[in-house]
Amino acid sequence: MNVLVKGAGVAGLATALELQRRGAQVTVFDPQKRVGGSASWYAGGMLAPWCEGECADKRVTELGIAATGWWNNVLPGHVECNGTLVVAPARDHAELNRFASRTTGFRAVDAKEIGALEPALSDRFRRGLFFENEAHLEPRLAMQALQVCLARTGCSFRLGRTVADQTGFDAVVDCTGIASPVAGLRGVRGEMLLLRIADLPLKRPVRLLHPRIPVYVVPRGENLFMIGATMIESADHGGATVRSVLELLNAAYALHPAFADAEIVEIGAGIRPAFSDNLPRVSRHRGTISLNGLYRHGFLLAPVLAARAAAMALETRDAANG
Ligand SMILES: Cc1cc2nc3c(=O)[nH]c(=O)nc-3n(C[C@H](O)[C@H](O)[C@H](O)COP(=O)(O)OP(=O)(O)OC[C@H]3O[C@@H](n4cnc5c(N)ncnc54)[C@H](O)[C@@H]3O)c2cc1C
Repeated sequence: MNVLVKGAGVAGLATALELQRRGAQVTVFDPQKRVGGSASWYAGGMLAPWCEGECADKRVTELGIAATGWWNNVLPGHVECNGTLVVAPARDHAELNRFASRTTGFRAVDAKEIGALEPALSDRFRRGLFFENEAHLEPRLAMQALQVCLARTGCSFRLGRTVADQTGFDAVVDCTGIASPVAGLRGVRGEMLLLRIADLPLKRPVRLLHPRIPVYVVPRGENLFMIGATMIESADHGGATVRSVLELLNAAYALHPAFADAEIVEIGAGIRPAFSDNLPRVSRHRGTISLNGLYRHGFLLAPVLAARAAAMALETRDAANG
């Protein structure tokens, strides 16, 4: 069975892999010249099902628990399983209590344990929460590795072309994110920074709680740190605003003053595709299967949703044969 996957973001690449595993011949099409998507390119790469429970439906936590295993299995060596540390300055301890009341899968940590987990944060925070089963990966490297893995097993890539020729395919899976024609989709803009600083040896994502501007810092290796991210109800593809950049930089500085000397490597903005309930959907529309609405959870939920989309695509063949 020949399947065309439109979109080479995390949804499209994961779907291509799940289709291949089920024996399909897959072609991935994307107008961009590289794989890695649009929203996916700017992601933090956190696999944080318990932390995300703070603001997401409990199904996100349930479905996301399988993600670390999937990524580890597909891309051994890419996943860092060091957990997530959540901290707040003393004046925002109410935020920490609220976060704890809305999540599971953590243990409360004091200043001593925070210092043991992250020596760079010693004496900076009195209380925190440690989600020890969470993980993270470098999203861009992971998607490039997925491409290599797919190409090695026979997937073909049509990148950098403006029009997808859909003739000759038995099924089409649309994973085009915010560009998809699927009804009910909205954009949630996320601005982010990439900073470089030596001598700040953070091992894991650290979330700094704040009543207005909660942020996270994700270590990327080679002294790089991703700082994210704004959550703005907008599908505006423009660059990051001064206000957002100032807020992200202030928050990074509040986490650790060493960020004052960091080099700004990149300022970016991605549009998270989301439905009104912020839950993803696999649906069929006029012969095209759509996987969309991954919102804040593309890396977390793509494994499970891709398997659903692949199974639905193969039903097309089974229905034709039956
Ligand atoms: C700042 C930020 C931080 C985030 N952090 C995390 C995180 O830590 N963990 C997590 O799990 N999620 C995170 N997310 C969410 C995650 O990035 C998204 O849920 C995910 O990227 C959506 O993936 P996608 O493949 O559906 O869309 P996209 O990545 O947007 O990919 C869509 C692709 O479709 C292509 N396309 C467009 N039109 C067409 C067409 N006509 N034909 C073919 N292809 C087309 C585009 O070029 C693009 O490559 C974050 C998002 C942002 C913005």
